[in-house]
Amino acid sequence: LEIAHRSSEFLDIITESKALVRKLCNIGEDHEVIWLQGGGRMQFCMVPMNFLYSNRKAGYIDSGHWANEAMTYARYYGTTLELASSKDTGYNCLPPWPDVPEDLAYLHITTNNTIAGTQWHNVPATGVPLVADVSSDILSGPADYSRYALFYAVAQKNLGAAGNTLVVVRKDMLANAAEG
Ligand SMILES: *Cc1c(COP(=O)(O)O)cnc(C)c1O
Repeated sequence: LEIAHRSSEFLDIITESKALVRKLCNIGEDHEVIWLQGGGRMQFCMVPMNFLYSNRKAGYIDSGHWANEAMTYARYYGTTLELASSKDTGYNCLPPWPDVPEDLAYLHITTNNTIAGTQWHNVPATGVPLVADVSSDILSGPADYSRYALFYAVAQKNLGAAGNTLVVVRKDMLANAAEG
């Protein structure tokens, strides 16, 4: 944390960490690997800031505490549809997979519900870009990360030191981000 960000020591660290993310998540050059500050909640905001502009709509699946927070934060930025929720039963199960409207900018899921302890094992294919908060199960087992248009993980749950967040985003999704 205390070495110069342009030093060769740091450049080696960032290059190696990106290569390791690619290898361990088995993702190719279609995706960009980014390390950011700000934690998970920052991604709750950055995802809609970047992809929920000019009357677009996003779908959210409310499967637990963090999924609900992600949706709540997104509402500050644009139209956010709650497509399914298991809140009424205290998140003691995953909600049934919903019909996903074809006109969404993205569908947001939380792959592992850290507090409730439920986890999506089979996520059906979607016709819209899939965005996943994988903070508390990333690299805990085999998973197909290439299917996500964007996934993010706060470092302090499964990866490393607090204050860092991994964001992996497909380049065609990035090309769709809001400008300026
Ligand atoms: C802990 C957690 C967060 C919150 O991350 P912060 O860095 O504290 O904002 C978000 N999503 C999931 C799934 C988490 O477990």
